Amino acid sequence: MSWRATVLTLFPGMFPGPLGTSLAGRGMERGLWSLEARDIRAVATDRHRTVDDTPFGGGAGMVLRPDVVDAAVAAAMPEGDARPLVFLTPRGAPLRQELVRELSAGPGVVALCGRYEGVDQRVVEARGMIEVSIGDYVLSGGELAAMVLLDACVRLIPGVMGAAESAEEESFSAGLLEYPHYTRPAEWRGRRVPEVLLSGHHAEVARWRREQSEAVTRERRPDLLSEQRRAAPLHPAASP
Ligand code: SAM
Repeated sequence: MSWRATVLTLFPGMFPGPLGTSLAGRGMERGLWSLEARDIRAVATDRHRTVDDTPFGGGAGMVLRPDVVDAAVAAAMPEGDARPLVFLTPRGAPLRQELVRELSAGPGVVALCGRYEGVDQRVVEARGMIEVSIGDYVLSGGELAAMVLLDACVRLIPGVMGAAESAEEESFSAGLLEYPHYTRPAEWRGRRVPEVLLSGHHAEVARWRREQSEAVTRERRPDLLSEQRRAAPLHPAASP
């Protein structure tokens, strides 16, 4: 069975968006993965199809109701659906390639997109959601974050990337940032490609690339070198 993504959102019209083009889009056309965007509002039961309410304790904005979100999850995930449920939120653990690899190796993912102030925490806990952030900034909704997550996962599904692309040697594959790339012309605006890359010496090229990777990682992301980071747990225990 192909990798299956379900997105729970108040704006299903935003999908597939960019996921319908290029690598991801071609993979979808070829049946390597599928995407379903489900409208959270469709499960709201009152006359006005209300999905949110004011926050307890006061403050600005609205919060997505736990009963509505729970019903949306239940409708999207029938019993036995083993896919992890990810809530995109700035409060989550930063998205890392380790989690991307883990998710893409599984059956798929269900992604919950917040809006307004966010989602009632009780349903996040009760459903054992994995809380994931795509970076230290605040978006207006989880849809773009879900697209980022899905794009990162989908490109690792076997067959999605052709021979021309490879995930074997890229940033984060060995805990380092990637070395710089160059192509023709060998000289451009007075800037020459590093000589070693023109030498045809495979071992020398490999050594140079490794050094470049380590140098750029040391300079820009020393945390990658020092930290023994672990991916966010895939299946946090659901509370009763
Ligand atoms: N009140 C929230 C806070 O301060 O953490 C921000 C809510 S934001 C305006 C609305 C929704 O956008 C969030 O519930 C989440 O789904 C999504 N979102 C915003 N920034 C995000 C990020 N960096 N990573 C993942 N999702 C994000």
